[in-house]
Amino acid sequence: MARVFNFSAGPSMLPEDVLSKAAAEMLDYQGTGTSVMEMSHRSNAFIAIAKDAEALLRELMEIPDSYKVLFLQGGASTQFAMAPLNLMGRNGSKKADFVNTGMWSKKAISEAKKFGAVNVVASSEDKNFNYIPALTKEMFDPQAAYAHITTNNTIFGTRYRELPDTGSVPLVADMSSNILSERYDVAKFGLIYAGAQKNIGPAGVTVAIIREDLLGMELDITPTMLGYKIHADNESMYNTPPCYPLYVSKLVFEWLKKKGGVTAMQKINEEKAGMLYGFLDSSKIFKGTVEPKYRSLMNIPFVLPTEELNGSFIKQATAAGFINLKGHRSVGGMRASIYNAMPVEGVEKLVEFMKEFEGKNG
Ligand SMILES: *Cc1c(COP(=O)(O)O)cnc(C)c1O
Repeated sequence: MARVFNFSAGPSMLPEDVLSKAAAEMLDYQGTGTSVMEMSHRSNAFIAIAKDAEALLRELMEIPDSYKVLFLQGGASTQFAMAPLNLMGRNGSKKADFVNTGMWSKKAISEAKKFGAVNVVASSEDKNFNYIPALTKEMFDPQAAYAHITTNNTIFGTRYRELPDTGSVPLVADMSSNILSERYDVAKFGLIYAGAQKNIGPAGVTVAIIREDLLGMELDITPTMLGYKIHADNESMYNTPPCYPLYVSKLVFEWLKKKGGVTAMQKINEEKAGMLYGFLDSSKIFKGTVEPKYRSLMNIPFVLPTEELNGSFIKQATAAGFINLKGHRSVGGMRASIYNAMPVEGVEKLVEFMKEFEGKNG
């Protein structure tokens, strides 16, 4: 068996221990004689899985009791509609503030416009989103129903180093690509959402963490399935949940806890990213594309001087077992996504490989 180092932006690597455990339990989950995929979501065995998943996530993120944890479907892209449908009506203002830091922010903005007035308080589009704009409290509208940010920009490789102060206006965050990778104080947010397929588990489950006082104010047009309250009232079992992805996510949470939790993982992530950025800064031919202050720990875009070199690097890297390094078309070049499940060894070996490439092509 040859596992490769997979630098995909999503769906992404899962810890090998998790995959082995899932494989071992595939045909007979803990003596039930069935796979988790074949179980009723109302069975005791599955309810225990769902409860454990929630308890573990609460522990890992230190989620206060005043927040509901929801396991939903439809990916972060559905949250782009669900957040405004549920929150635009908070104070009757039907307006929200957004910070535009890349393609995912833009999609969130265009979806929110269907349900209310959107004010883009700042944007980094002038430099192809290679930084996070400076934000002051004065830039945010105290009358807004909520303010929305994307904490880590998967495509452009930037992340917020500090959260904006929005006063009493609830802060809403798309955390799809850096949830559980670094410590966040959940109490600073009204709503956090994330698709699972980057740092949580398999595609198909979406996590929403919402402050309880923000439940139950959805617009009248909100379809039943897109209201947070119905899912909160039914412990994420209003309809059939994404059972198997949720089970694998639970295994990932257990793995992360065993590794020492988010604090320990953040250290490892800083070490991994530091290795790659350190090399990019010392290289004569490889260059990072992001302003150093805003560099992501998870998604690291970089370029070579010519398209030809980019192409030959990607080809040789793939052949050597470093896959999915091709950058997003809006940045070009390469992107290494190094989520929690990417071992330190994967980044060490990638950097070695880049050094060799530079030796031959520099
Ligand atoms: C991947 C990603 C999305 C889209 O997620 P889906 O689950 O495919 O809808 C949204 N926002 C960010 C920041 C992402 O990285």
